[in-house]
Amino acid sequence: MNERQILIVEDDPQIRNFIQYTLKREGYSSLTAGTAQGAMSILVRERVDVVLLDLGLPDYDGLEVIHKLRQWWDGGILVVSARDQDREKAAALDAGADDYLTKPFSATELMARLRVTIRHLGRSSGTPQSCVLRTGQLTMDLDKRLVTLEGQPIHLTPMEYNLLQLLFRNLGKVLTTKTILNEIYGVGYGTDTQALRTLTAALRRRIEKTPAVPQYLITEIGVGYRLADLG
Ligand code: CA
Repeated sequence: MNERQILIVEDDPQIRNFIQYTLKREGYSSLTAGTAQGAMSILVRERVDVVLLDLGLPDYDGLEVIHKLRQWWDGGILVVSARDQDREKAAALDAGADDYLTKPFSATELMARLRVTIRHLGRSSGTPQSCVLRTGQLTMDLDKRLVTLEGQPIHLTPMEYNLLQLLFRNLGKVLTTKTILNEIYGVGYGTDTQALRTLTAALRRRIEKTPAVPQYLITEIGVGYRLADLG
């Protein structure tokens, strides 16, 4: 059995039941709320690891809920939003959400995103990890500053290295363009998206077999980038 407790905040009973059923089947226990206010009152009295938050709630704006939550609560926030809300997804991530799911989603997608969110719980991105990071055939040794692809060392420029390290530290998780720019160029450069496009294209030429069909560095259209967790 899983010890994790998930709070499902969703006003549509059908979706809420589907999520609750899926979580139960996978061994997670869950609580439910149909409004933001209901969610808050649960969070102040119950131990919750991850909140699955529908952005379209009847009482409060989803982004406002994330901002409020992040003032005092540091569990995982997995946002659920309707299609064609790319701007809203990026804003949700910048506000402190960990990842998002787009409706409609499958049970498989739900569990994959939830696992990533749980893996990142309590892991501060500023904490140095002295270990070899890996996804698929791509590895990154932070002590030796060595990156290999299929066992062969590959050379990266310092900026490419910094970008890959940031993505590796958030393996499987989407990072917004703004977050990446702030992290690797410094705060204030959060609008130079062209610079990031150039940098990701350069990194893809180093780490991808077919840069036009990336396997590792995935673009999340209108939101940002994700380094695929291929195990
Ligand atoms: Ca809704």
